[in-house]
Amino acid sequence: MILLDGNAASKKRLESLKKDADAFFDKNKKRPGLAVVRIGDDPASKIYVSKKIKTCKENGFESFEFSRPASTTQAELETLVDELNERKDIHGILVQLPLPKQLSEKAIIERISPAKDVDGFHPLNRGRLLSQEETFVPCTPKGIMSLLSDHKISVEGRSALVIGRSAIVGRPVSLLLDYAGATVTVAHSKTKDLNALLPAADLIVAALGKPHFLSKQILKAGVILVDVGINRLADGKIVGDIDFNAYKNIASAMTPVPGGVGPMTICSLLENTWQSFLRI
Ligand code: NAP
Repeated sequence: MILLDGNAASKKRLESLKKDADAFFDKNKKRPGLAVVRIGDDPASKIYVSKKIKTCKENGFESFEFSRPASTTQAELETLVDELNERKDIHGILVQLPLPKQLSEKAIIERISPAKDVDGFHPLNRGRLLSQEETFVPCTPKGIMSLLSDHKISVEGRSALVIGRSAIVGRPVSLLLDYAGATVTVAHSKTKDLNALLPAADLIVAALGKPHFLSKQILKAGVILVDVGINRLADGKIVGDIDFNAYKNIASAMTPVPGGVGPMTICSLLENTWQSFLRI
């Protein structure tokens, strides 16, 4: 079984990115800049934001953290986004979700300049993805495709099952797999008989957010398993949507959790920021 090790794959990609960023700086005295906006005190958001800032620092990117209280108003946040849109030293803007209830995520996402929308959530960029134009590909789906290609796994001609259809993971990854030549089925909470679909799949992407949702079901021998889930149990342990031990002798390739898709997501964020830096 090939372990789809996201720590190792992202390290390699980030090393190459750092080399490019340092070489660019030596020549032009400019570095790519990522702004990360965090509103309120959500503990998970704090961890995600600090990881992103740390990865920027380690890899020759400038990072700018904007932490604002949970009481921030829509107008205040929009003013901040407008300022970041204008700043020449900022090439990527990420507003950490979820936002406190009084704020409209939709309005904020639409306020970010599509040219700096390194999360790929702006409707214009989503539309570009749908019409296969150059765009910022959302980070987790992009990271999944990178992880597969870094392990020389081609999905062309394969039968892929994506479990979950969210706008940030399931739906975009199903498009990317389709573009890469897979025949894609998307399952969701209304799917009637998921167990009947599972054994036919050559590749399964599990993105539901349900701890060890796949553990006893019958899967095809040699299946490729990509686990997107991050589920925190009562004892603080993080587990995925797939029980690794239950399938490690059946799968031909599989991501661990943690250390699989997670690190690839942050790596893709820097790759998108670099893409923006070269364009602006
Ligand atoms: P989400 O918005 O809650 O979407 C979950 C999806 O799963 C929905 O499409 C839902 O169907 C579907 N679903 C729920 N129960 C199901 C069932 N019993 N059978 C089949 N489908 C079912 O979640 P998300 O934002 O996509 O995130 C999914 C997981 O990935 C979470 O654990 C999250 O923490 C993790 N995540 C990880 C990363 C990373 O970097 N590793 C990044 C993002 C998210 P409906 O559409 O019908 O409701």
